[in-house]
Amino acid sequence: MAIVLLSGGLDSTVSLAKSVRKIGIKLALTFDYGQKANQKEIHAASLIARHYKIPHQVIKLPWLANITKTSLVNKEKAIPKFSFKESNYKETAEAVWVPNRNGVFINISASFAEALGYKYIICGFNKEEGETFPDNSIDFLKSINKALNYSTLSKVKVLSFVIGLNKKGIAKEGLKYRIPFEFLWSCYDGQEEICGKCESCQRTTKVFRKLKIL
Ligand SMILES: [Zn+2]
Repeated sequence: MAIVLLSGGLDSTVSLAKSVRKIGIKLALTFDYGQKANQKEIHAASLIARHYKIPHQVIKLPWLANITKTSLVNKEKAIPKFSFKESNYKETAEAVWVPNRNGVFINISASFAEALGYKYIICGFNKEEGETFPDNSIDFLKSINKALNYSTLSKVKVLSFVIGLNKKGIAKEGLKYRIPFEFLWSCYDGQEEICGKCESCQRTTKVFRKLKIL
């Protein structure tokens, strides 16, 4: 039995779809840390959770919103446009970095898991983002699992079923598991429509076009 971290994007939805039968998902958690796309992400996650008939809970982290200065949260800063050609990965990663975000998410989820008697936390860490964001990497996953052996009595464990995959591989899994692509929200911005220019949009749109998904 497990808890899934559901942002409403492709990676977390595919992770959910892959584990829903295998492990049994008892709860989906979405974090609101004041990100610009919070309402869009919460809406997407609630539709996806309902689709899979899983209870959904939103965890508000106003303190994280207050201390985060980067453009993912700060309304006065624009989210950087991303280009695969001009390899500005490090720059955009820093511009959208939220202090210890995945560390916080996992530790909060681990409290839920231990309290509710669930063994696993499912997250959408993947290869592509693992190269840009250290808190999406295999090393981080291994390290936080080591820490959870001490910080939870029940030795809660984080699993990612997409950690070895890039966006294209994850999208293919999405097709295989028939995820509801129409509910997803992958844009860093929270406008009516996706911006099409941020790193998340660029990565997802490119793959969706190639695979003729949307
Ligand atoms: Zn976008």
